[in-house]
Amino acid sequence: MKLAEIIDLDKKYYMNTFGDRQNVAFEYGKGMYLYDTDGVKYTDFFAGIAVNALGYSHPELVERLKHQIENLIHTSSLYYIENQALLARKIAEISCADRIFFANSGAEANEGAIKLAKMYHYKKNSGRTEIITLKNSFHGRTLATLTATGQERFHKPFYPLHPGFSYAPLNDFEALKNLAGSKAAAVMVELIQGEGGVINADEEYIKNVYDFCHKNDIVFIVDEIQTGIGRTGKMFAYEHFGIEPDIFTLAKALGGGVPIGAVCAKEKYCAFTPGDHGSTFGGNQLATVAGLAVLDIIKKEKLCENAEKQGKYFAEQLKNIKAVKEVRGKGLMIGVELEMPVKEIISKLFDKKFIVGSAGANTLRILPPLIITKDDIDAFINALTKILNQKG
Ligand code: PLP
Repeated sequence: MKLAEIIDLDKKYYMNTFGDRQNVAFEYGKGMYLYDTDGVKYTDFFAGIAVNALGYSHPELVERLKHQIENLIHTSSLYYIENQALLARKIAEISCADRIFFANSGAEANEGAIKLAKMYHYKKNSGRTEIITLKNSFHGRTLATLTATGQERFHKPFYPLHPGFSYAPLNDFEALKNLAGSKAAAVMVELIQGEGGVINADEEYIKNVYDFCHKNDIVFIVDEIQTGIGRTGKMFAYEHFGIEPDIFTLAKALGGGVPIGAVCAKEKYCAFTPGDHGSTFGGNQLATVAGLAVLDIIKKEKLCENAEKQGKYFAEQLKNIKAVKEVRGKGLMIGVELEMPVKEIISKLFDKKFIVGSAGANTLRILPPLIITKDDIDAFINALTKILNQKG
């Protein structure tokens, strides 16, 4: 189908929640590259919003998915599922979690984590029901997770919101302590705020919050939906902070493009008993084989190491550009604050066939596949420098 026809159909039949999209539809992809309906090649520095960690059409992922599709896609979790059990074991082996529950998206994983923390306190009869999150955070679009999201602009049309949420400013330990009364059940944080502008949490702040939570039996939840699965140069961002969350959530890159979410918890906090939670699709044969393949490939191809190495190089190169005010993030989760709005810059990069995103008005958001090479980075830096020089 031609792009114009796709756009016509979209405008007529699809609910427009994304505003003006880039004027392109992609037909196939290979490695770092996407090809549009006219066969034009683009280099992808956004990875489907931090999803396509392996790039496109990774042969092993494709092969394992094909094999699974030919056998069985879904049965529901009313029956045992080999891939589900294997993926749960794999995540437990490489993380601080003991048990996993699979959902279908990031928001759904966070809903599960919030429910699990509430269930932990309910079963203890502690009377604690309130959840503290951080200002400027993003945790999803369902009613509870948009309430958890500490940004007023997401809340406004949906009042009354889910009760029992409050918001502390990032990196202000005293404020969080003051907010946490006797009803605090859980604190939920992103270690690097993604949608909020790629803003790093301080290591000391996180350690203080973590210790405070543990002293007061407040469940410490880390949302690793964007930071997880190698993005920051470690499999999970919490590894940079010298802490082990009680519960953490995954989604995005875990399925390499196949929708999956995961609630990962230490045994002590695994308070769900039969009937407390569920999902029709969650952890089905297809989603969990994708997760297994992604984790195998990340290990085999040393993609965490590549994310760390290329991320450092990328950040150094970005810092050398004059119009760059600040480079934030870690590994291949990079926020580049410019002296000017980024909308036009993104569109000029797109004209040069580079795909990148934004986080706020002045911040470029770079989330490339973890397979990125130095040559890809050099090509991007070259294009960005030229565009910014034309501006000045
Ligand atoms: N949490 C974080 C940190 C995210 O970045 C996102 C999505 O961008 C979500 C939760 C929600 O994930 P999903 O869009 O899969 O529901």
